Amino acid sequence: MNILVSGRLPEKVMLRLSKGNAVQDHGEDRPMTRRELLDSVGDKDGFLCMITDKIDEELLNSGPRLKMIANLAVGFDNIDIEAVTARGIPVSNTPGVLTNATADLTFALILATARRLVEGDKRTRAGDFRFWAPLLFLGRDVSEKTLGIIGLGRIGRAVVRRARGFDMNILYHNRRRIKSHEENELGIKYVDLKTLIEQSDFISLHVPLTDETHHIIGNKELEMMKPEAYLINTSRGPVVDEKALFRALRKETIAGAGLDVYENEPSVTAGLKEMDNVILLPHVGSATIETRTKMGLKASENLLAGLRGERPPDCLNWENLNR
Ligand code: NAP
Repeated sequence: MNILVSGRLPEKVMLRLSKGNAVQDHGEDRPMTRRELLDSVGDKDGFLCMITDKIDEELLNSGPRLKMIANLAVGFDNIDIEAVTARGIPVSNTPGVLTNATADLTFALILATARRLVEGDKRTRAGDFRFWAPLLFLGRDVSEKTLGIIGLGRIGRAVVRRARGFDMNILYHNRRRIKSHEENELGIKYVDLKTLIEQSDFISLHVPLTDETHHIIGNKELEMMKPEAYLINTSRGPVVDEKALFRALRKETIAGAGLDVYENEPSVTAGLKEMDNVILLPHVGSATIETRTKMGLKASENLLAGLRGERPPDCLNWENLNR
């Protein structure tokens, strides 16, 4: 089989894929350009794609032989699932293997924003640490504060487990409320979105990007937040209205934000980079060597199963394929 891999992946993953297959490996730490993708996909049976690749009608028309597409991510908002399904192509994602790494990074952002870690490092290097004084470099407590989780899926639940170690009071909002015995086990309380936003000291977003979740946090929601609250986003950029967030941070109507993702990646809303009350990371939620290896192996397992004509373990559209 001819396979296209549009990003550089760990060697272990490439070895697995190349057994008995001809693999075109992009081999560079930058996304393939649209032109490169369209030119490369023409003779391919399988495509292991990155979240930076837009899988739409145009790309599918350029790859008439495609039999399977495996996304190297749990989120799949880069893929037009309807268009892929209409062509009878199975498509998969990589759920589960990146849950802990992303939850760890979320918690790192909660701690880093509240305790001003990045600003403290910057100021120490700049020579601003000239003496200790009781009211200098004050942050805010994380322990015993209220955490609001929007989207209680795999990552949301993993953040809850971490927050319990900090004795946090935990609220959640989801489309569907989970069973009450599970709420009790996790030690969390279901509330509507408005209550969660009004009562939380930290709001953490873990929803997928869909039409429903686009700008789930906008001007109105930011105005409802407590002035001492922080917004943490490790889900997808367009879930937050970034310009409205910039205004709230500039006016200091909220205490701060920790962002791993942006509305128009890799660009960041003008002005945010100059502000100390926001921490900006380069979309690294799952970026550890262990996790990226697991994601690569999971995507490969899905791709190879699909190419053999079997149901890929993490297939997103199997039931809707006309077979
Ligand atoms: P998941 O298990 O599918 O969880 C998503 C949760 O969001 C589900 O519980 C779902 O509830 C809920 N949800 C969906 N639409 C909602 C809405 N309109 N309002 C409230 N809740 C809603 O997914 P996951 O594995 O936790 O991953 C979550 C997202 O994180 C991914 O989609 C991806 O975009 C992002 N992510 C980012 C990084 C990074 O590098 N920063 C890494 C990994 C993942 P229902 O069950 O009721 O549908």
